[in-house]
Amino acid sequence: MVSRVIPVDPFDLIIFGGTGDLAQRKIMPALFRRFCAGQWPADAQVIGAARGDLDRAGFQAVVAESLRSYASDLARNGDALNAFLQRVGFVRLDALSDAGWDQLAGLLDNARVRAFYFSVGPGLFAPLATKIQAHNLATDKTRIVVEKPFGHDLESSRALNATLAAHFRESQIYRIDHYLGKETVQNLMAVRFGNMLFEPLWNSQYVDHIQITVAETVGIDGREDYYDRAGAMRDMMQNHLMQLLCLIAMEPPAKFDPDAVRDEKLKVIRALDPVEPHHIVRGQFGAGADGPGYRDVVGNPRSATESYVALRAHVSNWRWAGTPFYLRTGKRLVARSSVINVLFKDAPHSIFGAAAGRHANALSIRLQPNEGITLKVTIKEPGPGGMRLVDVPLDMSFAEALGPDSDTPPDAYERLVMDVIRGNQTLFMRGDEVEAAWAWVDPIIAGWQARGDVPKPYDSGSTGPGDAELLMKRDGRHWQGIKP
Ligand code: NAP
Repeated sequence: MVSRVIPVDPFDLIIFGGTGDLAQRKIMPALFRRFCAGQWPADAQVIGAARGDLDRAGFQAVVAESLRSYASDLARNGDALNAFLQRVGFVRLDALSDAGWDQLAGLLDNARVRAFYFSVGPGLFAPLATKIQAHNLATDKTRIVVEKPFGHDLESSRALNATLAAHFRESQIYRIDHYLGKETVQNLMAVRFGNMLFEPLWNSQYVDHIQITVAETVGIDGREDYYDRAGAMRDMMQNHLMQLLCLIAMEPPAKFDPDAVRDEKLKVIRALDPVEPHHIVRGQFGAGADGPGYRDVVGNPRSATESYVALRAHVSNWRWAGTPFYLRTGKRLVARSSVINVLFKDAPHSIFGAAAGRHANALSIRLQPNEGITLKVTIKEPGPGGMRLVDVPLDMSFAEALGPDSDTPPDAYERLVMDVIRGNQTLFMRGDEVEAAWAWVDPIIAGWQARGDVPKPYDSGSTGPGDAELLMKRDGRHWQGIKP
């Protein structure tokens, strides 16, 4: 099965921070892949912008090198690589001064879609928005893409929203959370709202509890300063995990349209109860075979920043009353795994007697690695010897299900950048959603600070602190394994 590629409108995409890690490792390879897929119209270009001492040829050489590393399969084709590089421009520009802006203006075409990607440190988001307006670069077809972190707390996110709103309409602002661009996340909506099978069961009457896990093997190398000020709660929970929670818990929107979807997500966040302190576990990784412990990494022997957090949340509405949501995320864990598990209740009565054991259905939605969906169902164990029951997975691995001729699902950035050009905000966070998420997270962090809470140590390469297991055990439940 070969996917349809619908070309987008002519565009000028300007990447502020074009020489940075994100631009080179993710955005440029994503653009190159869409270029090779035939999605770029003839009149389209990408312009990197940064302060570095580079000219266009120098920037093209940087991009070529990155594509050879991060899109090596396609970059082997020299003709494709050269054709793409012809569409790559560069301008030396400073977000904090007026240097370079006139040169940028000279490269742009007012008739095209114009997208400014803010791939710079968060301190430059507001100055960039201001400069774009000051230099009259915003047209009706202009969009801005704002990376994470979107604020540090409610107050700063409000201030940033206010600055952006002073210069752009909400319909022009694309706050990116790359988790929303993952194929499986959209499949989650397809599974929920495209089938009769699941939605009638998708409530507290049938769902015992839901687990959302984002486990990483990597530490925080290269981001020590930022991370030690942020921690797992701000860096991962406030955005990625809460977004996943919203998509799992939201009511069916009337249509698959940006505001209809985002209205429903916002209602979920607003329905979240405050979290009890004994329903949260914080952890900090110690030294291991893969490197020094957290405090050595950040160079602060007294750091009380968490590299792991697990919590039990409640969505207080008619659908979910009584069904807990357990969320956990951490660094330097045993395996890299992002997965949502929906654990259904036991059948109300077993006609097979106690010997058959207890069995319950479970739906696992894997975001990475090996994106796919697995439904655990109970069947009879084959063979003679009476009625013994066994759980088997119905596995919908996308790679297998769609066959060897299927295209690899596009990387999240491929989809999201093209959605910006298309003007589709469905997979981007709205300002009020971000603020509501901070409003839920801020009191949790304030509580830690007030109590002088110190994170529990956990072994690097483990599944996290033992207390996270207790959080579940107290409720008679257990975490689904983080698979190595
Ligand atoms: P980075 O590697 O430090 O790159 C920063 C870029 O901004 C460089 O191109 C830098 O070039 C440019 N820059 C710095 N000051 C500037 C100024 N005054 N005017 C114009 N350009 C300036 O950062 P990054 O890792 O790519 O991250 C960029 C943003 O994406 C951050 O907000 C980060 O939180 C977010 N993000 C990154 C990742 C990731 O995987 N890297 C993931 C998620 C989100 P010059 O110094 O030459 O100007």
